Amino acid sequence: MPATAFSVRFARELDVDQLAILMTGTQPTPDRDGAELLSIFSDAIRADVQCSSCGKFGAGVVRPAKSRASKAVLRQAHFRFVDPSGGDAHHPFCEFYGDEETRSPQVSLLDFGSEKSAETRAVRLLVCKGIEQGIFDQRRIRDMRQWFFDLKSATRFTVSMPLEAISWAHALQRHPHYRRWQFHPAQAEMPAFDWKAAAKNQFTEDHFHLFELLKEIRSDDKIWQQATELARKNHGREVFNVTVLQPYYEAAISLCVFVAANSSVDFGKTQPEYYRWKGPPVALLALCALVLFVSDWEMNTAISAFAKLLSAPAPSDLTLGNVIGLNPFHEYAAWRLVTASAEVAAKSTGELDYDRQLATIEAALREQHRRWKSGQS
Ligand SMILES: [Zn+2]
Repeated sequence: MPATAFSVRFARELDVDQLAILMTGTQPTPDRDGAELLSIFSDAIRADVQCSSCGKFGAGVVRPAKSRASKAVLRQAHFRFVDPSGGDAHHPFCEFYGDEETRSPQVSLLDFGSEKSAETRAVRLLVCKGIEQGIFDQRRIRDMRQWFFDLKSATRFTVSMPLEAISWAHALQRHPHYRRWQFHPAQAEMPAFDWKAAAKNQFTEDHFHLFELLKEIRSDDKIWQQATELARKNHGREVFNVTVLQPYYEAAISLCVFVAANSSVDFGKTQPEYYRWKGPPVALLALCALVLFVSDWEMNTAISAFAKLLSAPAPSDLTLGNVIGLNPFHEYAAWRLVTASAEVAAKSTGELDYDRQLATIEAALREQHRRWKSGQS
């Protein structure tokens, strides 16, 4: 349920109440909310308002739902996109496609206008300055979203690997493969021979070609968990292939790290050098992607734009920052693990169960030792 959408006429991202004020000149009240004020404009809205992510038209306004007893808002006013035949108007790859009312609020969209955290506040200030300085405007923000959406949806990937491929790839990533060691039965004559370590070393030798596929992957457990959920939810389905975003993601992360380390602005508690592993603050990532987009992905042009932003006077209009910024890399890190896991699974032999493979290897080493020993005596 998109809470905001892009109005072509007003050239900005708006929620239902903001659109009502601009279209009717009337302030919504608890008795006459924005959705009600807009009820006579449904044709105009259908032709004017675009989905923030996929850019499709066909918007209608859905009224907020309130509890009869407490008057608390159970569901906020939002836009629903319907095609002429009454079906879902979103592109099938849009994150709002097939969106049920009950689904959690949009996670790919972040509200630069919200004052929730220090980093969002810091980024909001920079967004206001950027608009005042003419570095970007709301139309360019919409263009960036469309560009990312078109790029993602142009390449496809079918989630067809066995689901255990994710935990298998995760186990491989954690496996200490840098230690190389060849087993010989004579080694097991040591009084405290470590069979578990021997099995792990043998595992490295047996699967060495797979570690190469994972060497660029740096993700914490939370993102692996997210990858498992995505693979389960989309199994058998065709999805967009995020690997096309990789160069842009790398550039955006590099800019985040540089800006956070060289701006003397506090962007939150994660140290910039951990951004690649844990992910950078989402608001900063969205802003860096935007600045790179308007700089034609030229790193030093983007850095110059940031230098200009940071030295600009305080913005006179803070409501300019009331813009919902799309994180163009929504779920990127998790999807990347899904595609990497599929590649690893395709090149793996035997079962995709790390613990069972270790147990099998240990049993085989012990048997090798037993036979060697009986040959010795
Ligand atoms: Zn959409």
